[in-house]
Amino acid sequence: MRTIVAGNWKMNTDASSATALVDALVGKMGGQPGNVEVVIAPPFPFITQAVERAKGSGIIVAAQDCHQAEKGAFTGEVSATMLKSLGVGACIVGHSERRQYFGESDALIGEKVAALLAADIIPIFCCGERKEERESGRHFDVVTEQLKGALGKFTNAQLERIVIAYEPVWAIGTGLTASAQQAQDMHAHIRSLLHTHGASVAGAVPILYGGSCNPSNAEELFSQPDVNGGLIGGASLVAEQFMDLLRIAGKVKH
Ligand code: PEP
Repeated sequence: MRTIVAGNWKMNTDASSATALVDALVGKMGGQPGNVEVVIAPPFPFITQAVERAKGSGIIVAAQDCHQAEKGAFTGEVSATMLKSLGVGACIVGHSERRQYFGESDALIGEKVAALLAADIIPIFCCGERKEERESGRHFDVVTEQLKGALGKFTNAQLERIVIAYEPVWAIGTGLTASAQQAQDMHAHIRSLLHTHGASVAGAVPILYGGSCNPSNAEELFSQPDVNGGLIGGASLVAEQFMDLLRIAGKVKH
């Protein structure tokens, strides 16, 4: 199984600090464990410079969202084919902030996944329950619905090209982290859903954990058998912390 550590920069950095962060990561990439795929998702305006500066480093540059259509009258939007033409290799879709602030539905997110697959970009599909959903014991059902609602129509060959990120909403940017057992239980649940499509799908799709993951809690989280790496927000903005997370993932998944 692949191990992936992906950084979601969200709406942070500016032209010069984004370049400085890419340069810092590229400078530290030598000697990193080769068994970890490294992804960074800068804001749209800084993607071109990130792709240029990351060239040859092994870092995959991702986007944080895309539009579901290939082109057309959608002012302000960015298509998967545009991203592909820039050299983007992956794209986050269905992040809880997109669901919460922009009203994205599972059906819409599924359309975005389809657009990304058609453009040959790896979709990083986010799912996860809200605090009240966990407190009422509905977290497994919520995640099941998100997966079925967005990914239910894809073929096995398409599913095998997707990455899933489980991000409990109550843990994102809050400093609260799912316990290693909570993460493993949900990842095993997601794996069992993938298994209904066959062993090759279950064996091909990495499931990343996201939600206040940092160098002090990553070892325990990444050690769980169904946790195949992390989607990292805050800690991905500090080069040293992000590199520590890569080192930890490389060590525990060795
Ligand atoms: C995220 O938004 O994807 C995320 C995991 O954020 P943080 O690590 O800051 O909780």
